[in-house]
Amino acid sequence: MDWLTQLLVHDGKFLGIEWHFWKFVGWAGNVLFTSRFFVQWWATERHKRVVIPDAFWWLSLSGSGCLLAYGFYQRDSVFIFAYLFTWIPYIRNLMIGHRANQALRDCANCQSACGPAMKFCPECGVKLNLEMKPA
Ligand SMILES: [Zn+2]
Repeated sequence: MDWLTQLLVHDGKFLGIEWHFWKFVGWAGNVLFTSRFFVQWWATERHKRVVIPDAFWWLSLSGSGCLLAYGFYQRDSVFIFAYLFTWIPYIRNLMIGHRANQALRDCANCQSACGPAMKFCPECGVKLNLEMKPA
């Protein structure tokens, strides 16, 4: 285990980093922002098609918020500008996704969620009743 300690601790500091509140906020932002790619990849592999789950946008929003806060703390114009406006598409995508989910209808045969413009259920192939209530 001594090799692990030597690997992780430099000059008496974890990873050689001078840890304080804002450093934690910045690293939390890095972890959140980077993790979104793994969440998106996992969702895509699971569905066998390209999928961007809501969690991707929430991780984007929280990660970039932490990084923006860290940028303000550092008074770093590059960091601030990089994350100052990114929340706009993240929130917009969450809103559009929420509205799309509200418009889904349940298939009467298999209860799969079907899009509002679909004429047939993509799961069981049953013709959808256009008068169905939203799911
Ligand atoms: Zn169905």
